[in-house]
Amino acid sequence: MIPAKFEYVRPSSVSDAVSALAAGGEDAKVIAGGQSLLPLLRLRLAYPELLVDLGSIGGLRGVRDEGDTLLIGALTTHDEVIRDPLITGHCGLLAEAAGMVADPAVRHRGTLGGSLAHADPAADLPAVVAALDATMIAHGPGGERAIGAADFFDDYLTTALAADEILTGIRVPKLGPGWGYRYEKFHRTAQAWAIVGVAVLARRTNGQVAEARIGMANMGSVPVRARAAEAAAASRDALRSAAQHADEGTNPPADLHGAADYRRHLARVLTARALAVASGA
Ligand SMILES: Cc1cc2nc3c(=O)[nH]c(=O)nc-3n(C[C@H](O)[C@H](O)[C@H](O)COP(=O)(O)OP(=O)(O)OC[C@H]3O[C@@H](n4cnc5c(N)ncnc54)[C@H](O)[C@@H]3O)c2cc1C
Repeated sequence: MIPAKFEYVRPSSVSDAVSALAAGGEDAKVIAGGQSLLPLLRLRLAYPELLVDLGSIGGLRGVRDEGDTLLIGALTTHDEVIRDPLITGHCGLLAEAAGMVADPAVRHRGTLGGSLAHADPAADLPAVVAALDATMIAHGPGGERAIGAADFFDDYLTTALAADEILTGIRVPKLGPGWGYRYEKFHRTAQAWAIVGVAVLARRTNGQVAEARIGMANMGSVPVRARAAEAAAASRDALRSAAQHADEGTNPPADLHGAADYRRHLARVLTARALAVASGA
């Protein structure tokens, strides 16, 4: 279907983009890679009157080394995330998971910021930033603010971003020595969308897991942390028995791809696999 008619602007600065959004009110929407928004426009499930294209704002692309953290521009594409040496060197979980998003065409256009702002519970990267305890940097009429991953995802397709705010960057902590990682997901052959996805970080000391962080995709309306399994893994339970707690506190959907109980089973199995790889067990 052809999208409904809309106005289009392509500002060259964040402040101009914020002004355009504020002036457009509820009828304005940001477009980045267009990989999630354009299908919605074509299906007429969204019909904004104004599209604010971020594509000419150069400062929103690329990765900056800040010392203990990396600041990744929101417009950095999935493909750039996969190849960036700072990300592969200090935050390999993000690069690994980005490599499992969709197909090469989508990965060349789709952006990290777009994936997080879209907040699809089945998307891979929201679960990863939840596991990483990343911080989202937003710009609005009042200036800049930082939003932790735990507060960023509000509900299905809903984030803490206000209508006139732009996600400009994602700050991720560098993983020091001792950290292992793994992203596991189960999906239909024809589609890369996760039926369930599990992002695991594990830090080892003296051959044991001292700390584990587990973010899960499609186990609720927002990415969820498997806190019970994290605690069990760090209390030196056998990793497989720690993974048995992975679905505790989750509320997985039931749809044509799988029943809620099936997703709970997948969460436990994928967590066991990912914990084994991340911890080097
Ligand atoms: C065929 C196909 C398969 C896919 N498979 C997967 C998959 O397996 N796993 C997965 O995780 N994803 C998948 N995706 C989604 C893909 O990762 C998208 O790239 C991503 O979800 C959105 O990024 P985008 O830059 O294209 O955002 P857009 O489509 O441009 O925008 C998406 C939404 O985010 C908002 N937005 C975008 N950028 C910003 C910003 N900087 N600040 C504020 N709001 C913003 C827009 O207003 C819009 O509401 C798939 C997409 C397609 C088309």
